[in-house]
Amino acid sequence: MDKKIIFNHDDLISDFGINANIGDENNKIIKENELENKLKSPLYNTKVTCPVCENVFNALTVKSSAYRMINKDSDFFIRYSLINPYFYDVWVCNSCGYAAMRSDFNTLRTIEIEQVSKLITSKWRGRTYPKIYDIHIAIERYKLSLLNYIVINAKSSKMAINCLKLAWMYRLLETENAKKLELKYLDQALERLKDAYYVEAFPLYGLDKYNIMYLIGELNRRTGHANDSLIWFSSVITTPEVKESLKRLARDMKDLIKKDEFKNKNSSSVSTENLKCSENNFDEEISTKKSSFLSKLFKR
Ligand SMILES: [Zn+2]
Repeated sequence: MDKKIIFNHDDLISDFGINANIGDENNKIIKENELENKLKSPLYNTKVTCPVCENVFNALTVKSSAYRMINKDSDFFIRYSLINPYFYDVWVCNSCGYAAMRSDFNTLRTIEIEQVSKLITSKWRGRTYPKIYDIHIAIERYKLSLLNYIVINAKSSKMAINCLKLAWMYRLLETENAKKLELKYLDQALERLKDAYYVEAFPLYGLDKYNIMYLIGELNRRTGHANDSLIWFSSVITTPEVKESLKRLARDMKDLIKKDEFKNKNSSSVSTENLKCSENNFDEEISTKKSSFLSKLFKR
């Protein structure tokens, strides 16, 4: 599946300035320092051929040695120090506008390529991205990827994981508005993950059936559907094949629901009113016509 991805070490070397013409000793020291800094950089370029337009471009990639995991949220979101690998998970071809999460990038079928050309490339304007991405760029790229998944009518699991990662990015922003958007995308992730659970083959993005069962329970809990959440967690706990560590997690989350229910007995719990996004307003959020968020990337 990744046969078109080439790790081009020649490019890496020329990027490091190894072939540059160094005049004197001072220049040599400066160049050596630059080289050292670049070697220390947590990022490198992966040469990618776009399956839609065959443009070859460099995709920023995080070195696995640079991953510094701090902890994991209960919906499998991993928090990192140093550099955030999630920021670099979406690859974008700036020539045609095709974007997808890295593991899906080269899995397009002919009909899907035609759909991207027709509905994305024809309107694509593009933009220049900086050498290091921040949270806002990450959100933009996950939205662009989601738009591509919508256009090609991608499998539910792809849309679910894209929405989940988008929700995680909003979680990092820690503002009131971002919190609402996090819940909205968690809700979208939940709907699509349930579809995927019933029709797709496991594992999905490295998650086996029981991890997905747990995740559906947890996304229900986070979006205020306590009763549904308890049903899914109970299934995890009572299935003999499930690992003890996952059962423990499900029990912990069940306990959390009970505690929250007790706490919220006399006050309203998480309002799900603004989470009930129909297919229509989901598309509206992401649509090239109506969304100001992505409109700068497209021709009018
Ligand atoms: Zn392309």
